[in-house]
Amino acid sequence: MPLLGCIADDFTGATDLASTLVKNGMRTVQLIGVPADGDPVPDADAIVVALKSRTTPASSAVADSLAALAWLQRAGCRQFFFKYCSTFDSTERGNIGPVADALIAALGCGFALACPAFPTNRRTVYQGHLFVGSALLNESGMENHPLTPMKDANLVRVLSRQTDGTVGLVPFETVAQGADAIRRAMTALKEQGRRYAIVDAITDTHLRAIGQGAASHALITGGSGIAIGLPENFRAAGLLPTLADPGALPGVAGHAAVLAGSCSRATLGQIATARGQIPMLELDPLATPDAAQLAAQARAWLDGKLGAAPVLIAASAPPDKVAALQDRLGREQAGTLVEHALADIAEAMVARGVRRLVVAGGETSGAVVTRLGVRSLRIGAEIDPGVPWTFAEGSGPAMLLALKSGNFGAPDFFLKSFTMLEGSR
Ligand code: ADP
Repeated sequence: MPLLGCIADDFTGATDLASTLVKNGMRTVQLIGVPADGDPVPDADAIVVALKSRTTPASSAVADSLAALAWLQRAGCRQFFFKYCSTFDSTERGNIGPVADALIAALGCGFALACPAFPTNRRTVYQGHLFVGSALLNESGMENHPLTPMKDANLVRVLSRQTDGTVGLVPFETVAQGADAIRRAMTALKEQGRRYAIVDAITDTHLRAIGQGAASHALITGGSGIAIGLPENFRAAGLLPTLADPGALPGVAGHAAVLAGSCSRATLGQIATARGQIPMLELDPLATPDAAQLAAQARAWLDGKLGAAPVLIAASAPPDKVAALQDRLGREQAGTLVEHALADIAEAMVARGVRRLVVAGGETSGAVVTRLGVRSLRIGAEIDPGVPWTFAEGSGPAMLLALKSGNFGAPDFFLKSFTMLEGSR
């Protein structure tokens, strides 16, 4: 039975958390959206339900999170984790406070810690203030975020505005003393009637101590950083065996391909690195602003190209070309047109036997996963930080998928992805 049940407020954040859990020894499966009642419980130590609840109305974020919690409870999970962004992305009305309030009420636990710190990515919390590198959150650029502008770095104040409960602080001085001191401080805050404790953390050592201090908590809330301390609690309790390879994936035979819809600088660099090394079709949505025609070009090109070596199809373009298409069609329409074409192409690739697919781009990945009917991703080894191979299952054939957020990955990401799989063909 699974031990840890996680609810993540967005898709890439869910994968980040799942990958962190695998690296710390838990076999982890990510489910896409609230699972249906009859969906089978994956054979895993941790389950991460990926929602899209960061910027939806609070009422629907709460409803989806509670439905996910109920499913995870029925699956047998013993502890629950609400994952949000390490920059505490939220608005005055939520959704971190309303969702955490609802989860606390449903679990009857009365209290939860809140710690978005992620030192590896330079997100730290000191005296309740969130820093991004050396800048306070509200001077980090996040104050201008289009959907969740963060204009206050004091998380005690930020969370207080989102809940009718009260928020305390476990300060650095206490955290530095280790797990027992943190546990006592959290218990004292709960006994004083606080519903939340923002917990300071500057290093991974702090995160591990906080995790240890929260071993008995029903609910933990935070970024993926705080999850590094949780697997050890289950090992210490004799519930989690030490596995040689918690990210082992079933082997899948089939053709290999890359599909790129990200126009981020890193992706453009990765495409440039692959140029000349593997067969590549670069679509031109500006010349052919029609999803069906773009997909037809790709299908015609694919025939005869697929084999043991990977191929690459990209719609990606530099900023001036993207802007030109957006000027012509409108920003949203341009994005939707290309996503539609790429989803068609993904479907055509799978129909032609592709079973190892790298997708570049967050929105692009969402469109592809939806079109392929993928419902669950077993998380494997990381190709580059934040991007693991996954074993995908759903209404279509099982396959290996790597879903890359645009700016992630080294220049040789595309070729490296497939080299990593060699031997498991
Ligand atoms: P990232 O993770 O880099 O943000 P996304 O896939 O989330 O990548 O977003 C990229 C967006 O750009 C998608 O909506 C995609 O359809 C769109 N797009 C891709 N190629 C082009 C292009 N040539 N012109 C305009 N838009 C494009």
